[in-house]
Amino acid sequence: MEFNELYQEIILDHYRSPRNNCSEQEASAGNCVKHENPLCGDELLLSVQLDSKGGWIEKICFAGHGCSISQASASMMTEAVQGLDRRQALALVERVREMMRGAEPDEELGDVEALQGVSKFPVRIKCALLAWMALKDALDGGNGNYQTETIHEQGRS
Ligand code: ZN
Repeated sequence: MEFNELYQEIILDHYRSPRNNCSEQEASAGNCVKHENPLCGDELLLSVQLDSKGGWIEKICFAGHGCSISQASASMMTEAVQGLDRRQALALVERVREMMRGAEPDEELGDVEALQGVSKFPVRIKCALLAWMALKDALDGGNGNYQTETIHEQGRS
């Protein structure tokens, strides 16, 4: 079996009932970034709201469309980082990127671990990372319109 069945179930569950999914209008409010993966046609609008002291993620929501992996990953990401501070959230982004490069997840990642199987399918890695790169961008203070393609290539060492 190429793709762990349990993982597949978790991905489908997030795809069918996305967490922290909101309207495009709502996602465009506040600190919003838009990321696209043109290879697959995935689009994501992500809104991240830090608490008034700028410490932790108070509210996060996304609107988007695309393949099941990109949308499930966005759902998992918003669930995983809610309540984390900026530094913790960025560290989690790095862990997920490492996982997509084939590293075993070294800590309890919850549902996010289900994305691990995607690392075996290079064309889908960008789908899985779309939401995470959007989050990194939002936390880095970006306010742009990016294609994950570009960012992913830049991030490669
Ligand atoms: Zn995709």
